[in-house]
Amino acid sequence: MVEDQIRYRGIYDTNVLEAMSSVPRHIFANEYDLDLAYADTPLPVGYGQTISQPYIVAYMTEAAMLKNNDRVLEIGTGSGYQSAILSRIVKEVYTIEIIGPLGENAKKIFKENGYKNIHVRIDDGYKGWQEVAPFDAIIITAAPKDVPQELLKQLKVGGRMIIPVGVFIQELFRLTKTDKKIIKENLLPVRFVPMVDKK
Ligand code: SAH
Repeated sequence: MVEDQIRYRGIYDTNVLEAMSSVPRHIFANEYDLDLAYADTPLPVGYGQTISQPYIVAYMTEAAMLKNNDRVLEIGTGSGYQSAILSRIVKEVYTIEIIGPLGENAKKIFKENGYKNIHVRIDDGYKGWQEVAPFDAIIITAAPKDVPQELLKQLKVGGRMIIPVGVFIQELFRLTKTDKKIIKENLLPVRFVPMVDKK
């Protein structure tokens, strides 16, 4: 998977390649999809949600330009696969999931497999995680219509947010916060499930 789908397509950050090699994707897949666990495709995880295609997970992780001491917030825990990848690279991962059973299931997988630096919260991701903010990076794995301003507030100066934005047509952006402004880079067209807005 790592050679054919990820390195071949130009991911070169060694931390990302090592994390993608060391985390078994099948423990996060649905038992009916075990034969597809390493395939070049997103997979269903129940409740209408999916684990992203491995390449997209690697791409978003590399785009966040992570360092070993970073504390990262992920919105949309889903299966927990992206959190597990992040946990192999950074110091602490905080992840928020709005669907209770998905969050609980991810917690169980982390516990059973010794992922100790991942903290799961079942809540609405638009609020972020005020008590442990600010973050060095925020990775959003569901697509809001616009960039959530509260989440930008919870990003450190120098921090990076990787976020798909849009309804039918979505673009993946990297937003970098400086002391004066937000630098916005358009990275790639993507397709994510919508980030549910309960307001
Ligand atoms: N990162 C996941 C894939 C996420 S799919 C993985 O690696 O498997 C998107 C997830 O975002 C879904 O689980 C969905 O329930 C969740 N989600 C959607 N809207 C949300 C919101 N407002 N707050 C938190 N999670 C949300």
